[in-house]
Amino acid sequence: MTEVLKMYIDGEWVSSLSGAKRTIINPADQSVLGIVTEGDANDVDRAVKAARRAFDDSSWRDMKAGERAELLRRLADAIEAQTDVFVALETKDSGKPLRESAYDVSDCCACFRYYAGLATKPHGQTYEVGEDVQALTVREPIGVCAQIIPWNYPLLMSAWKLAPALAAGNTVVFKPAEITPLSAIRLFELMEEVGFPKGAANLVLGSGTIVGAAMSAHPQVDKVAFTGGTVTGRKILEASIGNLKKVSLELGGKSPNIVFADADFAAAVDYALYAIFANQGQVCAAGSRLLLEDTIYDRFVERLVERTKKIKVGNGMEPGIEMGPLVSSKQLDKVLHYIDIGQQEGAKLLCGGHRMAGHGMEKGFFLEPTLFSNTTEDMSIVKGENFGPVLAIQKFPDDTDEL
Ligand code: NAD
Repeated sequence: MTEVLKMYIDGEWVSSLSGAKRTIINPADQSVLGIVTEGDANDVDRAVKAARRAFDDSSWRDMKAGERAELLRRLADAIEAQTDVFVALETKDSGKPLRESAYDVSDCCACFRYYAGLATKPHGQTYEVGEDVQALTVREPIGVCAQIIPWNYPLLMSAWKLAPALAAGNTVVFKPAEITPLSAIRLFELMEEVGFPKGAANLVLGSGTIVGAAMSAHPQVDKVAFTGGTVTGRKILEASIGNLKKVSLELGGKSPNIVFADADFAAAVDYALYAIFANQGQVCAAGSRLLLEDTIYDRFVERLVERTKKIKVGNGMEPGIEMGPLVSSKQLDKVLHYIDIGQQEGAKLLCGGHRMAGHGMEKGFFLEPTLFSNTTEDMSIVKGENFGPVLAIQKFPDDTDEL
């Protein structure tokens, strides 16, 4: 029988109180990667209470900063020692190519080391406010932090949330995206191994609408740190008002790259491609709009099409693959819908635009890298974040034009 992967609450690996489960699949072929326990509001409650106790008994926040730093450094070393495990997990769970997962693992270690360093540095200021009188500012931990992340950088985003909060002496209740929890589970196993005290960091698993919503509303949570969609961000802000939590939101985007005629042509082409096709375009800062000066427009677009058609799409686990599948069928449908609307609104499809099926890709959520030209500001593919490998190209006359 397949082992059911558990949550980590108060220093114990536990199943959800309801006994519910969720199947995690590989977006490259829909094979089952694992079964995980599926939490609800009752599990959130016990995780928050554990984090509350761990904060209030001071075992974590009053631990010497050097000791907290040492734990974070040991964690970084432990992750690094298992780089291959994490790279494979991340690629299987999220679809991204191996080389991108390798970058994420390395960046994750760097993040834990960076905040380990910061934990022992001065973090206050001194002011002269009168004769023989000084005022001090001292930075203190906030308390219990609820942390909610999306599926596009499961491991790296875990580090970006956990490392600073723990370094500062907060305790944490952490929720990965429900469809990509595997690297976070492994990360918490290592946190236990290196000796984080019980209750300091708790892992809950489950859906956003149930588990995420309960974390955002819980009266014993002092802060919510969220990365994800703008619509969700609004819900979290609303849910958090009961006890006036501090809230930080990192939401969606629709970033433009602007290329003028005097730019380094080859470098600009490389970066325009990287900006939209890295991680299958599922990046909040993706360069999903490209504005080209008219005198280089035709040559630039021609080169982009040529290069885009050569991108190697396939199962991210295969060496040499440059673009993997989208993370889920839901995400694939959403992006295909945008492509459809793009055509209906009059944009010109230069290449791509279809689900891919050949070469063993039948069961995966693969989408051709897609370029649209003749786009205008009022079009949905220019205004809306589709979070996929779809570039909207616009032309501008010269640098005096209002963009
Ligand atoms: P999402 O907002 O649907 O989900 C993100 C997380 O929030 C998941 O863990 C989900 O379970 C949880 N969630 C969902 N509903 C919730 C609710 N009502 N209350 C609390 N939590 C809830 O986003 P997604 O589809 O996973 O990710 C894509 C979005 O994330 C895109 O819009 C993208 O731009 C954004 N994003 C932003 C950044 C950034 O740094 N600004 C980084 C990555 C992704």
